[in-house]
Amino acid sequence: MNDFKYTRSKNLQDSIEVLVQEEHSQVIAGGTNLMDLMKYRVENPEHLIDITRLPLSEIELLQEGGMRLGALATNAETAYNPEIEERYPLLSKAILAGASAQLRNAATDGGNLMQRTRCYYFYDTATPCNKREPGSGCSAIKGFNRIHAILGTSEHCIATHPSDMSVALAALDATVKTRGKEGERSIPMLEFHRLPGNTPEMDTNLLPDEIITSIDLPQKGFHEKYAYLKVRDRPSYAFALVSVAAALDLSGETINEVRVALGGVAHKPWRKPEVEAHFKGKPATKENFEKLAERILEGATGFGDNDFKIKLARKTILRALMEAKEL
Ligand code: SF4
Repeated sequence: MNDFKYTRSKNLQDSIEVLVQEEHSQVIAGGTNLMDLMKYRVENPEHLIDITRLPLSEIELLQEGGMRLGALATNAETAYNPEIEERYPLLSKAILAGASAQLRNAATDGGNLMQRTRCYYFYDTATPCNKREPGSGCSAIKGFNRIHAILGTSEHCIATHPSDMSVALAALDATVKTRGKEGERSIPMLEFHRLPGNTPEMDTNLLPDEIITSIDLPQKGFHEKYAYLKVRDRPSYAFALVSVAAALDLSGETINEVRVALGGVAHKPWRKPEVEAHFKGKPATKENFEKLAERILEGATGFGDNDFKIKLARKTILRALMEAKEL
């Protein structure tokens, strides 16, 4: 680990000013991913700005009927918040599917969105990796790629985003609130993370001077018909090979609204709102759920070791939707 300067921030504006003034400064909160990255010398910040004392940890009701998760609320506080459990059980379930109890006690909601890929080559500084060192190449495309993406990949990177929480937030149409030198911004969850394209070093659309202040949930939580299924190599403390957040709003057997977001298959939570809209008004049958899965996975391509994910994703979408329907 490199030497670095450490500052405990007193207010948000001071933190933003340091980010603006010092090119190699970085925000730290729970640090559950960043500390690992620093130990492996994947990330080498020269100045760490500790924001854990800022007043950003409230979980509160919004006037419009939704809820606000302060960026510094921990994953455990969020998952076990009684209002969240009751109104957004999909979110609670997804958070509790991730990491371990100890990590969820330390990891923050803002940090959860900012965690970086677990591609093995990204952590191995002896191998080429465009995300870690732009222009050096991608070791995964022709290497061992069992955990890698099947959708939205580029010739520069086939990494996946590792967060479970982000998958549920994508399904729920959450909004990420930020503050930077130009003021506040609201970023729809589906636009927060990026596909790799030719800039795989950029995971998100957060600007270098911006800090996440909250994650806002809309009023509708799909608390009656939802499922979060995570398929992984171990029953706990493992990242998703494929995960599915499914939510349904039905009138009898008719679909009013269906949402499906996937994790473990792309550089961002994968969702196709235009495909979901096509199934509005159709019967909530196994046949229609199969068609929906096919359309969500259109264009999916494996790289050898991860070919199995295409069939696995199709079956997991179907099972999640059937579980949501029967709830
Ligand atoms: Fe690096 Fe992305 Fe290739 Fe992994 S998949 S080696 S993170 S460029």
